[in-house]
Amino acid sequence: MNRRDVLVGLGAAIGVTTLSVAALARRSEILHYEFGEIGAPAGGLTGSDLQCTAGTVTPRQPEGPFYTPMTPRRRDIRDAGVGAGVLVVGGRVLDAQCRPIAGAILDFWQTDHHGRYDHHGYRYRGHQYTDAQGRFELVSVRPHAYTALSIFRTPHIHVKVQGPDTPLLTTQLYLPDAEDTNARDRGYVPSLAIAFTGQDGPARHAAFDFVLPRT
Ligand code: FE
Repeated sequence: MNRRDVLVGLGAAIGVTTLSVAALARRSEILHYEFGEIGAPAGGLTGSDLQCTAGTVTPRQPEGPFYTPMTPRRRDIRDAGVGAGVLVVGGRVLDAQCRPIAGAILDFWQTDHHGRYDHHGYRYRGHQYTDAQGRFELVSVRPHAYTALSIFRTPHIHVKVQGPDTPLLTTQLYLPDAEDTNARDRGYVPSLAIAFTGQDGPARHAAFDFVLPRT
């Protein structure tokens, strides 16, 4: 990724935002979607069997320079026609008492399998709502490591999560089996690593639960 790509990415992100300069400064604290929707048909999602520890909320991570607001609503953020292996991340959005949060918004963005972001469109970007049991499911590909602005990044998935009565959480998910690159990235946090749960044909499945305080 070169400097021009970075600037184009920043320009695209800012260009579609209609907020004031002051609001732009705290752009990362704003989600651009409406609450009041509940995602997924009943029984459509697997959620997770992960243990929730009351009082332990999901840590924050930097947004980074490559967020684009107003993504399409979709669970499958793959680029049509790309034959890379499928990564399915399922889980729940919970409050600090481990109760599910229905209608929470999750806005995901990540690189493709070559470590490239789409700065002009919405490939590998999309938002979705949790179902009545607080479950979500992301269908994507395995992200790849990259270097931008001379900073090396291990593979990760960016996400903004917010429930109807929670603060906005901006964070990143990591791959526990990317040990070599995780060790080279000071942003890597083990508690933000997804848990691989199995393989289903070409799809590798993993789980992660987000835990947010209620306001
Ligand atoms: Fe990134």
